[in-house]
Amino acid sequence: MRGLMQDWPLTVDRIITHAARVHGSREVVARRTDGMIHRTTYEALHARSRRLSAALQRLGIGEGDRVATLAWNSERHTECWYGAMGIGAILHTLNPRLHPDQLAWISQDAASRVLILDTSFVGLIEPLRHRLPFEHYVIIAGPSEMPANSLDALCYEDWIAAADDRVEWGGFDENTACGLCYTSGTTGNPKGVLYSHRSNVLHAMMGMGKGVFGIGPDDVVMPIVPMFHANAWGLAFSCPAAGAKMVMPGGQLDGQSVYELLDSERVTLTAAVPTIWLGLLRYLREHKLQLPYLKKVVIGGSALPEAILRAFQDDYGIEVVHGWGMTETSPIGSIGGLPTGLADAGPDARIAYLLKQGRPPFGVELEIVDEAGAELPRDGETQGRLLVRGMAVAGAYFQGRGGDILDEDGFFDTGDIATIDRFGAMQITDRAKDVIKSGGEWISSIDIENIVLTCPGVVNAGAIGVPHPKWDERPVLFVEKQAGSDLSVDDLRAFLTGKIASWWMPDAFLFVDQIPLGPTGKVNKLALREMAHEVELGL
Ligand code: AMP
Repeated sequence: MRGLMQDWPLTVDRIITHAARVHGSREVVARRTDGMIHRTTYEALHARSRRLSAALQRLGIGEGDRVATLAWNSERHTECWYGAMGIGAILHTLNPRLHPDQLAWISQDAASRVLILDTSFVGLIEPLRHRLPFEHYVIIAGPSEMPANSLDALCYEDWIAAADDRVEWGGFDENTACGLCYTSGTTGNPKGVLYSHRSNVLHAMMGMGKGVFGIGPDDVVMPIVPMFHANAWGLAFSCPAAGAKMVMPGGQLDGQSVYELLDSERVTLTAAVPTIWLGLLRYLREHKLQLPYLKKVVIGGSALPEAILRAFQDDYGIEVVHGWGMTETSPIGSIGGLPTGLADAGPDARIAYLLKQGRPPFGVELEIVDEAGAELPRDGETQGRLLVRGMAVAGAYFQGRGGDILDEDGFFDTGDIATIDRFGAMQITDRAKDVIKSGGEWISSIDIENIVLTCPGVVNAGAIGVPHPKWDERPVLFVEKQAGSDLSVDDLRAFLTGKIASWWMPDAFLFVDQIPLGPTGKVNKLALREMAHEVELGL
């Protein structure tokens, strides 16, 4: 027998419509590229998103079409999300930190038809134009701010002003595709994670929950995590759903700029990767400042360093929420915190526990398994491959890349190695995937190796990530030279320049007699990590 409740499809347009009706005067604040602060409301943002939908329709965009953005966090970027998603188009966020070759590859793979971009990225896109699939370009600017460009681009403000807001939103199945975000945290080419309306709505509700971020209408939330990183951790959905004021920081993310917005807008909750917090904490210390309004800092994307946890908690009285997740998990996968059963733990035990990646909220299941796929005990000590399954977890990649990614029980292998304890708290202990995470962004060790293997004089090479106090990890490259070759570190650096993004350049190059190989002939990364331990890298 079927239940007799209403059929109310979980589509994200309902989130911003709810915000406009119920929290219409709640502010959305954004820092523009020129540093000016712009203020609007959910009511206005809703109306402008609808105009944007109509403007997209005039370009012939409809259900299933991909609309790409290359933009920092702003109210206009938020309008693009709701405007595209409301009519069933798929909003594809591009990450400006990628190498231009990767940007071109991803745009082609997604076959996006429109690119809406910030003025600051025009110079990045112009030289790539002939390699991009876009039929239309829109520059996020008013008529007076429009830069000269060779993209035949439309001016964002003129474009939406010319459209009206008589547009049909929703009306499609809740499993319709809604957002597309590529992850480079896998081997091979980046892969697209295709979120659905349903997964985004459920994930937004999960994020609002008290045991997760705990967002309510009295909160002021500043998502520093970019909208091109896994849905900005769902905050562009959770905030309007909760009626929280939203503060969008744009592209200025240094300690001073972050502090100024946190203070002037009285932000109560903010979220970013550890590297951002190091910059903020340094600025606070140097200028002897406090953050009296800030209650919670969400830290994820990389492991939470103890020094950051202690500084926020002990020096500033701010609660730290440590989260683990992936682009593939929308991204919330687990949240750190002390189980009630451990409420009496001493200070050091508390810290040790808070540094764990934590427990999955309802809607996410975690398991650890051995190499044969057998489940391992939840004893807090046994390490295994971390698997995940849930209501907002990827079931396949866009275009079927990577083939079948689920095991027979429907679990996805995260590529992380972890323990799980009797309270269900997970701790990452290692990474099986061959990637390096620096300042919250992926570096492909395989790409660096493949490029350097084409350098004359190189016999074999292996790249690994080594811990770094600011960037979490930085790449180090081990190189085996041909006998008699006089290849130098400067030669290698010169060879890689221009072939990889500048921030991918290894911090250290080490020549070795022989690159250690594993049983299948592949570079033995474990052995390289041990070798890296033994040498003073001076990073
Ligand atoms: P991404 O898809 O770029 O969000 O990256 C997901 C990966 O980042 C995870 O599989 C982990 O390897 C890593 N990661 C994310 N959050 C954490 C965390 N809190 N602690 C350790 N590693 C993390």
